[in-house]
Amino acid sequence: MDRSTPVIELKGVGEKTRKLFEKLNIYTVGDLLSFYPRDYENFREPVTIGHAAPGEACAVRAAVAGIPNEKRVRSLHILNINVSDGTGSMQLTFFNMPFLKKTLRQGGYYIFRGTVQTRGSFKLMEQPKIYSMEEYGKLTNRLNPRYSLTKGLTNQAVQKAIKQALSACPPEEEFYGEEFLRTYGLEGTEEALHAIHFPADMEQLIRARQRLVFDEFFAFLFLMRRNREFSEGMENSYPMFETADTVRFLELLPFPLTRAQKRVWGEIRNDMGSPVCMNRLIQGDVGSGKTVLALLALLMTAANGFQGALMAPTEVLAAQHFETISGYVRKGCTVLKPILLVGSMTAREKKEAYGRIASGEANLIIGTHALIQSKVEYKSLALVVTDEQHRFGVRQRELLAEKGEKPHILVMSATPIPRTLAIILYGDLHISVVDELPANRLPIKNCVVNTSYRKKAYEFIEKEVRAGRQAYVICPQVEEGELDDLENVVDYTEKLRSRLSPDIQVAYLHGKMRPSDKNRIMEEFAAHTIDVLVSTTVIEVGINVPNATVMMVENAERFGLAQLHQLRGRVGRGEHQSYCIFVSTKENQETMERLQILNQSNDGFFIASQDLKLRGPGDLFGIRQSGEFSFRIGDIYNDAGVLQKASAAVDALAQRDPSLELPEQEALRKHLEKVSANSVDFRSI
Ligand code: ADP
Ligand code: MG
Repeated sequence: MDRSTPVIELKGVGEKTRKLFEKLNIYTVGDLLSFYPRDYENFREPVTIGHAAPGEACAVRAAVAGIPNEKRVRSLHILNINVSDGTGSMQLTFFNMPFLKKTLRQGGYYIFRGTVQTRGSFKLMEQPKIYSMEEYGKLTNRLNPRYSLTKGLTNQAVQKAIKQALSACPPEEEFYGEEFLRTYGLEGTEEALHAIHFPADMEQLIRARQRLVFDEFFAFLFLMRRNREFSEGMENSYPMFETADTVRFLELLPFPLTRAQKRVWGEIRNDMGSPVCMNRLIQGDVGSGKTVLALLALLMTAANGFQGALMAPTEVLAAQHFETISGYVRKGCTVLKPILLVGSMTAREKKEAYGRIASGEANLIIGTHALIQSKVEYKSLALVVTDEQHRFGVRQRELLAEKGEKPHILVMSATPIPRTLAIILYGDLHISVVDELPANRLPIKNCVVNTSYRKKAYEFIEKEVRAGRQAYVICPQVEEGELDDLENVVDYTEKLRSRLSPDIQVAYLHGKMRPSDKNRIMEEFAAHTIDVLVSTTVIEVGINVPNATVMMVENAERFGLAQLHQLRGRVGRGEHQSYCIFVSTKENQETMERLQILNQSNDGFFIASQDLKLRGPGDLFGIRQSGEFSFRIGDIYNDAGVLQKASAAVDALAQRDPSLELPEQEALRKHLEKVSANSVDFRSI
């Protein structure tokens, strides 16, 4: 067995499990090994009911007491069970698990693990996990890896498969030299791989993670350097002039550009008319109005008789851009001939689109990655804009160049990062900053609350809906995962429906839905046939529904502040007062203080840096700050130090052996080739 062996050859992995792994993009044993845990859980010894602290995840050993009580609220089945020990009693509530009233024996002792809540002097737990004493004993006092699961796949099954793969595969060859490892204080690749899955202790875990994060950043930066060399000083094959169309477009807009927008538009115009090809990043906080700038550039391109492409990270976002642009076309911006090109279109629709793109009949192509697939032949592609997806990579650029296309590149990012990091991460781009929000904005009102506030929050959402507004509710996971006491989109939606008036339309959205379903839901939300949208962070990037005024985030303690800030950016986009409700299940002071930072500032840079100050390295597992950079394990904020180290290592190597020709770099060269070959969709390259 080696890393290319299909997972089905592992013992215990049958056809069913293979399909589940496939859903997680795991096909080979190698894929499985680089499926790193999402976080680690330390199962403490069970406590008594009397000692269980509210707001904390804990395990309680107690006996089932009294007759379970069942009821139904619309489609939701609710089961209440009382449990007790010598120190007190507690009520457990289960949703849609009617079978439990039979499986839990009267008077039997079990371990119930969940978050204790209080209602007055009364303690309760919702949807706890149930263990026998024996099962629980095996889990205590270790760092247990938790994987991002999919329904039907248990954490245990993943652990078992990984254990087997680790012992059956020959060790991976070390691709850095010994001196390199010493210089950068890194441990061996094989050790790191074992320890990331099954760490002996926190110290080992931190070291393993550092190595893997370093690898990821190193490969990224190395390939980016190639990109820079490839595109630096590339001659402008599509020199453009400003025409009356952009001026007319600005008159069509219901608002004047901010000063920052005007400045950046000037920079873009200059680039596109200059002797060298544009390679520019527009950085600007959420809501700073970057879309308009992209449109201006695309419009100038069309007016000069060329084609432009706008790439978005999701179909939902692509469809939204298409709608916005079609609106401007209807209002008279007729030089634009937009076309949508996304993966979920039928083969026939795609074929027709390809035809219109090849003939030049369409001059603005809006879509996702499908856009740059080799099947697409452009007539004269002069500009590629990527939105909320920070890289247009060397691979993509090379693919186009092979077809004779050397377009201008414009990258738009809302990820707030300090200048030092920006220079490392965007070393191949010129940077423009939109450092001003439109003036018509009312500041968003925020509150940080515990779960007992939910009832009020729901009343508030009802009130806003009655006033004609819409709301988002964010949950950290898609569906119930093993070992988890986090809110999930699917069950939460049902709960919420039973708690809001029946005439309020509630729907859900998450990343695992079919693209066409996602698009439909987003369209309905934008058209206001849906009032409340329960979603994962898929809506974090770019969605623009100015009528939405409430953003409620469940398990807010699970998110990095930079990410919460991005979520907050989905409201406050129109003229109405907007509100954010951050619900924390943990009530300890530390968590509350951290979340309060969101109250102090609306500045993404400031928020991200404060968050880091308050945390230790052990706190960072399982929390990602940036959704936009799609690193597998590294996080530009949490791992800024490693990023700097990797950058220094790439610089040093580039001085000595930039194309990795020395014999001792053979292994590294092979490794990087593999990474870059696997990264056609490696959005971060
Ligand atoms: P982001 O920078 O997050 O991509 P958008 O481009 O989506 O922001 O803009 C957010 C909202 O602000 C949109 O509804 C847009 O029409 C509006 N907007 C953009 N520029 C201005 C401006 N100068 N004045 C007022 N509203 C603006
Ligand atoms: Mg945007």
